[in-house]
Amino acid sequence: MSKLPYIETRRIVVDKAYNPEYGDDRICECGHPYHRHFDGYEDNKAVGCKYCPCYEFKLPKDKINYIVKAGRRIFECETEDEVWDACGYDWTHEVSSPTGKDVM
Ligand SMILES: [Zn+2]
Ligand SMILES: [Zn+2]
Repeated sequence: MSKLPYIETRRIVVDKAYNPEYGDDRICECGHPYHRHFDGYEDNKAVGCKYCPCYEFKLPKDKINYIVKAGRRIFECETEDEVWDACGYDWTHEVSSPTGKDVM
């Protein structure tokens, strides 16, 4: 037990922002393009889809070629480049492929 006057807990805050390199026209599982999940008038804040209640851009199931488990996070990826980026999040990562692609 600590004898200090305060018990401190740390929180991790995740801010999600628009990625101009992701590809504006990639289609979300809701059927609408990536860039429509952000507010172009408000610094491209992640505000959710403009056309439907979908909040978070997600690849449609048939586009998920790789699943990367990096630490406690799970990334669904379409391309090998995305897998590389996802693996960078944590040294302990595990890649699998629901569509039967070769796992690097
Ligand atoms: Zn969506
Ligand atoms: Zn939508």
